[in-house]
Amino acid sequence: MSNRDAFLWQLPRSCFLCGQPLQHDRLLCAPCETGLPGKESPECRCCGEPLEHPAPALLCRRCASAPLAVDETIAAFAYRYPLDVLVRHFKYGGALYLAKPLADGLMRTAALHRLPDVLLAMPLSPRRRRRRGYNQAHEIAVRLARHFKRPLLAGVRRVRDTEAQAGLNFTQRRDNMAGAFACGAAVAGLHIAVVDDVMTSGATMDALAQVLKAHGARRVSAWVVARTPSPDF
Ligand SMILES: [Zn+2]
Ligand SMILES: [Zn+2]
Repeated sequence: MSNRDAFLWQLPRSCFLCGQPLQHDRLLCAPCETGLPGKESPECRCCGEPLEHPAPALLCRRCASAPLAVDETIAAFAYRYPLDVLVRHFKYGGALYLAKPLADGLMRTAALHRLPDVLLAMPLSPRRRRRRGYNQAHEIAVRLARHFKRPLLAGVRRVRDTEAQAGLNFTQRRDNMAGAFACGAAVAGLHIAVVDDVMTSGATMDALAQVLKAHGARRVSAWVVARTPSPDF
């Protein structure tokens, strides 16, 4: 580990959000940690989109007519302050010490659901991986794999770098993602949980799940730290 890497993993001694001094090996003080934005259920069972109308609707409008290739979406938090700040620091600011609290949140939520056979970190294109120095989804996935004692799947790659998705609706995002992933792993019959930091429209997750299903995956769950409302809605 280089000096730079060691620095990235070093925990600050005060609460990341409010600056209160911390006694223990933690990142957030207790009030800030309990104040992280949960999700106001209910959510679409397929894509995790918050539902405007509660039960008996189990699916959002989009998934009722054209469901994603994922069978379920499990999200730990809503993508609102301060989660958005934490995720941005984690993803773009090199704050790798945030992997632990973000993974812990997802761990607590995922433990309430059926566990998969294997976990898969959302692959990052080699170019982005090089530029960022790490794959943030992998940093979370390794912790979950260790905790749940499940293997982490290798051999699924991002083969095409796609245009930035901001400003595109779901259909455009879905077209944009076509052919983005390649699966060189044996996944037939497996229940796979794909781990990612944030899910927005679900188009990226959908494209990956389609490839996994085409290779025989039995069930694909999306495990994401935070879900934003889809830009379609
Ligand atoms: Zn605090
Ligand atoms: Zn949905």
